[in-house]
Amino acid sequence: MNCCNSKPIIGLYSGEKLCKIHFNDYFESKVSKTIRQFELLGKEENLGVALSGGKDSLTVLHILSKLSKTNPKIKLNAIAIDEGIHGYRDKTLEKARDFCNKNNVELHIFSYKEEFGLTLDEMLKILDVKPCSICGVFRRYLLNKKAKELKLTKLATGHNLDDECQSIIMNQMKNNIQASARLGPKVGLVQDPKFVQRIKPLYLCTEKEVTTYAFINGLLDSFNECPNVPQSFRAQVRDMLNSMEQKFPGTKYSTVNSFLQTLPLLKQQFRSDAVKICAKCSEPSANDICNACVYLEKLKNSIIVK
Ligand code: SF4
Ligand SMILES: [Zn+2]
Ligand SMILES: [Zn+2]
Repeated sequence: MNCCNSKPIIGLYSGEKLCKIHFNDYFESKVSKTIRQFELLGKEENLGVALSGGKDSLTVLHILSKLSKTNPKIKLNAIAIDEGIHGYRDKTLEKARDFCNKNNVELHIFSYKEEFGLTLDEMLKILDVKPCSICGVFRRYLLNKKAKELKLTKLATGHNLDDECQSIIMNQMKNNIQASARLGPKVGLVQDPKFVQRIKPLYLCTEKEVTTYAFINGLLDSFNECPNVPQSFRAQVRDMLNSMEQKFPGTKYSTVNSFLQTLPLLKQQFRSDAVKICAKCSEPSANDICNACVYLEKLKNSIIVK
């Protein structure tokens, strides 16, 4: 990228420094290239964006809504999940609503309370589990179910290069390589009508780049982090990777790039473990009963016992 070098706002890991205008161009063309390189979008899509109201999902929605304005064959909807996390989700949902109103994007909000009868905060008072484990299971479950009901052809998420790098390392550390086979810019092992294909347009953008883009485009006004983050394994891996990146710039890119080379083999190896149907709810599942139903049963039993 040829930058005019007036007032650089960011230094890339390659050493290049970019001004606001040229960074914006660099970032948007990187996302377009990612979409082309990994064939994330077809010619016609009824596309959903999983919107949390945080910087990553607002950035992906901002870029895709620009694309949809110039390409009427790409229709755009946003889906937000209200887990019921006091003092956090209410604020980010406000931001999500605001963005969608201003940009004419239809927003569908679904909550744990309405769908499962309890907020995440209430679930965590009943069960002694890691917040992100149960939260992630219910979020993925609801996103897929609602995306199917809305007849979305794909669901874009705001996952960036840092998120992917953390997931790769976490799966290695937990000896859960099968979960890594489901990673990549196009999520999942096989294309199956039970799953709405999830795609990650920010796959090759670092957290630093996304934060900078969100900031200069008015998508980030205050730092807002879920109160459960410090308890998560992911937060430990994130800090470790940030420290490695600082000492050895390019660590995250190298980790993700080398993973991408092994990903086709992993997908091949675990292809046969693909998709079953949950005997209770008929949603897709890796086991006979899906994790969401397992947690719902545990919650029900704990409430009865108490
Ligand atoms: S950080 Fe964990 S608990 Fe908070 S929203 Fe994300 S997955 Fe849920
Ligand atoms: Zn410039
Ligand atoms: Zn189920």
